[in-house]
Amino acid sequence: KSGFVALIGRPNVGKSTLLNHVLGQKVAIMSDKPQTTRNKIRGVYTTDTAQVIFLDTPGIHKPKSRLGDWMVKSAREAFEEVDLVLFLVDAKEGMGAGDRFIMEQLREVRTPVFLVVNKIDQVHPDSLLPLIDRYRKEFDFKEVVPISALKGNNTSTLLELILKEL
Ligand code: GDP
Ligand code: MG
Repeated sequence: KSGFVALIGRPNVGKSTLLNHVLGQKVAIMSDKPQTTRNKIRGVYTTDTAQVIFLDTPGIHKPKSRLGDWMVKSAREAFEEVDLVLFLVDAKEGMGAGDRFIMEQLREVRTPVFLVVNKIDQVHPDSLLPLIDRYRKEFDFKEVVPISALKGNNTSTLLELILKEL
């Protein structure tokens, strides 16, 4: 099995952390500052039966200029070319305008989308289901996977679901 998986989400939701955890090496730059991941950094997860190519995409934002328009359009096209989109959100921050904007963009994309609720180590378990329900009302996700990219909680389940999808 092999395929391309795109990571999308607001700055600081943990995209680089997840990639680093899954790939077991520092392939993407981690920082507290938003938007340090300027380019797509590809990482390959390989087992004896599977190969998954991850694309760490910078978050798409509401365009404020023609250049912004172009960036959003190219991001949308990039999502059409992959086999799976992982939409990462921050369990602690909750749903923001940036999340809604990304879901609007993904609505026109035919690629299956997983909702990955990250940083579950920072919230009370009882708050997770209501949050997931809110996202589910906005978008028809193929899977919903709560994880902690930092602690590694549930990341193996996420990988299994990714491999199943490819
Ligand atoms: P990106 O902008 O989406 O690539 O986000 P980063 O991977 O750079 O992470 C932003 C910040 O969130 C860093 O300080 C990470 O250590 C932190 N972070 C990422 N995942 C988790 C998590 O699961 N739990 C906690 N507590 N912090 C996390
Ligand atoms: Mg990053």
